[in-house]
This record gives sequence, C-alpha cells and structure tokens, in this order.
Amino acid sequence: MGMAPLAFWMSKAGYSITGYDSNLQEGVRKHLSASGVSLRDFVFPRQLDDYTTVVYSSAVRDGHPLLDAAKAAGLECLRRGEMLARVTQDFKLIAVIGSHGKTTTAGMIAYGMQQCGIKANYIVGGLFADSELPPAGYTDSPWLVAEIDESDGTIEHFCPEHTLILNIDWDHADHYSEAAALERAFIGVANRTKQRVFLPEALSLSGLDEGKVLNYGIAELASAVNHFNDSNAYAAMQVLNCFIDDLPDDPLSGFPGMARRQSVLFESDTVKLVEDYAHHPTEIAALLKSLRRSAGKRRLLVVFQPHRYSRTKQFKEGFVTTLSQADTCYLLPVYAAHEPLVEGGSAHDLADAFTGARPEILNMDLPSLKRIFDELQSEATLLAFVGAGDIEDFAAACASMLKEPHSLDAACLNFLKGRLSAEAKLSLGEPLAKKTTMRIGGPARVYAEPTNFSDLQELLRASNLFDIDYFSIGRGSNLLVADEGFDGLIIRFSSENWRRVEALGDGRIWAAAGGRLKEICGFAAKTGLAGFEFLEGIPGSIGGALRMNAGAMGSWMFDVVERVQFIDEHGFYQDLPKESFHFGYRRVEEISRGIALGAILKAPKSDEESCIRDRIDTYSNSRKESQPRGPSAGCIFKNPEGTYAGKLIDEHGLKGLCVGAAEVSAVHGNFIVNQGGATAADVIELVRQVRARVKADSGYELEPEVLLVGRNWSDVLREDADA
Ligand code: FAD
Repeated sequence: MGMAPLAFWMSKAGYSITGYDSNLQEGVRKHLSASGVSLRDFVFPRQLDDYTTVVYSSAVRDGHPLLDAAKAAGLECLRRGEMLARVTQDFKLIAVIGSHGKTTTAGMIAYGMQQCGIKANYIVGGLFADSELPPAGYTDSPWLVAEIDESDGTIEHFCPEHTLILNIDWDHADHYSEAAALERAFIGVANRTKQRVFLPEALSLSGLDEGKVLNYGIAELASAVNHFNDSNAYAAMQVLNCFIDDLPDDPLSGFPGMARRQSVLFESDTVKLVEDYAHHPTEIAALLKSLRRSAGKRRLLVVFQPHRYSRTKQFKEGFVTTLSQADTCYLLPVYAAHEPLVEGGSAHDLADAFTGARPEILNMDLPSLKRIFDELQSEATLLAFVGAGDIEDFAAACASMLKEPHSLDAACLNFLKGRLSAEAKLSLGEPLAKKTTMRIGGPARVYAEPTNFSDLQELLRASNLFDIDYFSIGRGSNLLVADEGFDGLIIRFSSENWRRVEALGDGRIWAAAGGRLKEICGFAAKTGLAGFEFLEGIPGSIGGALRMNAGAMGSWMFDVVERVQFIDEHGFYQDLPKESFHFGYRRVEEISRGIALGAILKAPKSDEESCIRDRIDTYSNSRKESQPRGPSAGCIFKNPEGTYAGKLIDEHGLKGLCVGAAEVSAVHGNFIVNQGGATAADVIELVRQVRARVKADSGYELEPEVLLVGRNWSDVLREDADA
C-alpha cells in the first residue's frame, strides 16, 4: 500500500517505473496502470540491465530472489522511505507523522487542499474510499504532502518544511526496543523541520526545538467527518490554515475517507458490517468507542485478526482490555506479515489471556463464515472486522453472504465482481462443451477467465473462502467434460495477457500459460530456435502441455523447460527450475496439483528458420495422414509399456466401433471422435467397451490419457468392474 502511491507519483513525475507485487489488488493495479507504471504481473524482470535502482517495501527481506539479483547486479537498492526522502528533498515537504491516523490525515490534507484550490503534490499510504481518487497527485507546485512511516527507521532521512505530529504510541518493537527510542525518532524529524511543527497540546516531548512548535488542541468539529475522525480532521485543518487565510467552513465535509477505515460493507435493518484497519490497542479502543456510540441498542460483535506475532505478544493485555469492550469477540489466526512465529504471540495465546469469556478462534473458511452468518440471525448487530491483514477478504466474503443469503454461488459471484479486473469474465452455469476440442460436456458451476495474476489470486481466494473446488483449463484439448458438468470453479487461461510470449535471449523464450503451442512453435522458428518443432499439431496451451508433459515425435515438453512459474498445491507462488519437478509420461506431479502460470523454455539448439519450417511441415503432414479431422481429445488411452494403445485397438478390430455418436476413429484407433451430438456418457461407454475387449483378448489394461472433468475415471471404470 505504501509502495504503490510512491510509484504512481514517480511515474507521473517522469521516472520510468516497473512494478512487481506478489499480491497486487485490482484497485491498486488500476491506478498504477493509469499512471504509466508498467506492471510485471507475476514474473520479475529477469534482465536487470535496464534498471538503475530497485525500491522495495520493508516487508521484503534479504533472500527475496529479485532483491538478491538486484544486489548481485550491483544495482542501488532502497527501501521505500529512503526513496521517498530522496524524491521529496527538492520539494517543500509537509510531513504527517504519528503512530495512528497518518494515512487518513494526509489524505484529508491532500483532499482539503484540492477543495480550497491550493496546488500541491501528495503521496499517501493507502487508497481513498472513493476508488476514483488516486493515492498520489503530481503537480508543478513546490509543495508535497506525504505521510512518513516510522516503522522501519527510514523516518530519519526526512527534513520537512512543516511537520504535523498526530500522536506517539509505542509500536514496532522490532525496530524500537523501547518507547523512548520511537519518541526520539519523532523528535528528530521535528527538529530537522525547517518551518513549523504542529504538536498536539496533550503531547509533551522533551528536547524539542520549541521555536518552531505550534500547539494545537483537539476540539470537536461541528463539521467533522465523523466522531472517530474528529482529531484527524482537526489536525489536518491546522495545516490547511497555514495555506489559506480565509479557510472555508467545511473543506473536509465531502472527504470520502480512506479505504479500510470504518468502511461499511453491508447495512440492513438488523445488521451493519464495518471493516477497519485498526491493529494497535489504542486504535481498536478508539474504533470500538466510536462503534459503540453508533451501535445504539445493537449488539457489538467484533472479529479481530491480530497483525504480527510480536505485536500480539507485546500488547496482549491491551488487546484483551480493548476487545473486552465488545459484546462478543472472535479471533482469527495472527496475520504474520512474513514474521516467524513468536512464542506467546499466537491467537490462542491471546484468547487464553482473556479473563472473561474466551473468544472463539475462527478460520478464514466457509464453516467460520457460516458461524458468523448464523450468529447474525438472532439479534440486531453491529459487526466489525478489525485488523490490518487479509481479514478484509473475510469481511468482504461475509458481506457477500449477507447480500446473497440464499445462494452461495451468488455470494461468491458478488465477492468476485468488485475484485476482478473489468476485462475478466465471470459467470454461473457456463456451458463447457465449446471450450473443449471434443465439443462435449455440461456446464461449470462457476466459470472465470482471469486477465492477470491478481484476478487469478482473487479466484483462488474465493475458491478457498466459499469452499468451491477449482479446475484450470487451457484449450480443452485433452478433456472429456461429464454431461453433468463440473461442480466447481473452472478457470480458463484464454485472455491475451495469458498468451504472451517473449524472447529472453540466449536461446530462451518466456511463455505465459495460455499461449498456444502452435504459436510458440512459430515464434521459435522465426527466431531461429530449434527443438520446439514436435509441438506442431498439438492443439494445446503451454499450461496444459506443462501439466501433461505433452509429447510427440520422441520429445516431450520437459525437454525444453528451464523454469516454471506456478501456484503450488498450498496456494503459494513458486518459480522453480526443471530439476525440482517430478515428470514422466503425461504427468508432472507438482503441476497436476497446482496451476502453471508460465515457463522459461530453452531451445536445445539454433538453426536456419527455413530448416526449422521444413521439419514443422514434415511433422504436420505426418499428423494429417495419421490422425482424424473430427472433434476429439487426442489419444484417449496412454500407451502401455512396450506397445501402442492404437495398435492394440486396431489389432482387435475395434476401429469404427460406436456408442451413440461417439466412434473409435477409423483413421487412428486411439482416437474417439464425436461424430456430432455425442455425449460424455457415449464416450465413457465406448471407453469401457474398448478396454474390456482389449483386456479380454490381450491382457493389457488400457488407462485413459484424456482427463475426465466432473467425474473420476476410477469411479466410472470401477462401476464397470462392479457391473
Ligand atoms: P487442457 O485439455 O485444457 O487441460 C489438460 C490438463 O491440463 C488438465 O488437467 C488441466 O487441468 C491442465 N491444465 C491446463 N492448463 C493448466 C495450467 N495453466 N496449469 C495447470 N494445469 C493446467 N498430446 C500430446 O501429448 N501429444 C500429442 O501429439 C497430442 N496430439 C493431439 C492431437 C489432437 C488432435 C488433440 C485434440 C489432442 C492432442 N494431444 C496431444 C492432447 C493435448 O493437446 C495435450 O495434452 C495438450 O497439452 C493439452 O493442453 P490444453 O491446453 O488443451 O489442456
């Protein structure tokens, strides 16, 4: 959240910026793209020669492949705060500092200045609740409003023109071992400030250069945005007052608020659901006080996700005291934010510290969502989801269930709609037959075509939260979809972004999962890379070929693979070399349990384009002669050890055998062709008959190569055995 506004502003200011985030949200992506930042989606840049500097979030630690590569290449590597300090040094910086409320207050100042017609640059640390307002603004003004983060110590690099101090409350114990250390960091900025330091009356700091200090008291504003934000608004007004003598009464009345700050996600006669970023006991206390006021007679139910084990341990008592203000409290497991487990800092430790009712610990899953949903049926409730981690997903899923109480699928769709890019496709009950080369099969319960990695992450999140199985498909050229369809989420990699192919130099190509094998083959030929010719005529995608280790003419996919980027079975992004994979005949273990995103392919050799094209033509002609033209899914059976399935089927006189409109091809015995209107049941029955005949006559037990979607071959074939 802190990185994106800085990148946005720098891009507008004329810097050439490439961005990478392993968990980029659609709202952020939209703003960054609009500002001209080029986004790498899920693949880091591999050639770093074009870059001078790498700027990274403090959440990124040594050991991150991109950071390590940048350091090894001798690039300048700066933390966000260091870069912000550098780019703001030529501006008159209005720094907003404090333990709580920086983002909102900086947002208010930026907003108020715009309302009053004061030109200024701004860089805030979050998104406005109004998604149309960018989180940074570039103008030709010498003034720049920015919130300065104290958490990682980079605060010491700033020398502002004016500094607005909001409050000081010990936090970030990993950097400030005691409260006094944090205080010293704030005093340092104040004393480096060139003109004015705005300091709350209630805060006394020793060692402050008093000459610049302008004390302000916190008064209730008639026009305040809401009670919760009174003090932030009042502080923001101090700064605005400096710039305009005749400040309008209400410059902040239209302030939309910042995202994740008391955001109302759902409201009905009986239930109001809010989500808030508060993660420090002081913030939670202020939040609950404000919520209690607005709850009236309604019950106040809080779901809290602690942020970081160290903070949970450090402030355990504070959390217990503040959360006990709620009528009912649930906890979610700690959001670690890359931190290893700290003993005494888990959600269980926190729950154990309650002296009254021990809060129940939920999970980010459907049973927990249903648990909350059921609770809401009994009593009028103000429900607050509180925390700085991924609790926002849980809150949004809960809001979607409240909006669509009668259908889980509709709730899932509702959850996804606001989160996927505008170009992504999403539907319920999408027919799948036309998405396969066999042209057979029923609908997908939920169907999606993500356009980028963020979309894919949202889909996986939804699959997890709503407990809907997913299955990824490419060109559907190795699939038989059951007549009843697939009772889950089908993710299809067909959009343009998933079909990118890039030459990396040194005989290497990077291809995204949705790229057609034919295109890769043509691309390689054009660039003089030999060894991809065997892919000609396999009508699949890179993703499908990686999963199947597709092969022909004595070669297979993993012959040309150097690295694969994929989501593993636990949902984690991986970028691994070929040696890490267990691959064999029509199977790659790791990819069959995950999702391939793309791969770096390496040509075994180079050659003249014309020679490569000659080989492609030879392979293509041989396929035309030996394979049927009608709709099929390629070879229906795997070749048994030492022989060919097609040969066995041919030898047993099964070519031309039909069930309904499904026929064993007369051209190639291992193909089943849909002669028009065949059903999956027809194909399954034909598979049974062919297997039974081959087994009875030769003893070979043919195993299907084509994947059955919506049912299991093992069940279907067991039924056969049972019968
Ligand atoms: P799909 O059929 O869509 O899916 C196949 C499997 O891959 C599924 O398990 C699916 O979940 C998985 N998958 C798809 N995308 C991803 C992804 N991004 N991440 C993880 N898993 C994914 N195959 C050969 O090996 N050699 C051949 O010579 C050959 N010839 C064929 C000829 C014809 C006429 C036809 C119709 C098929 C042929 N095939 C052949 C089969 C098929 O084309 C290949 O298996 C191909 O690799 C499948 O790719 P796909 O994109 O169509 O995958």
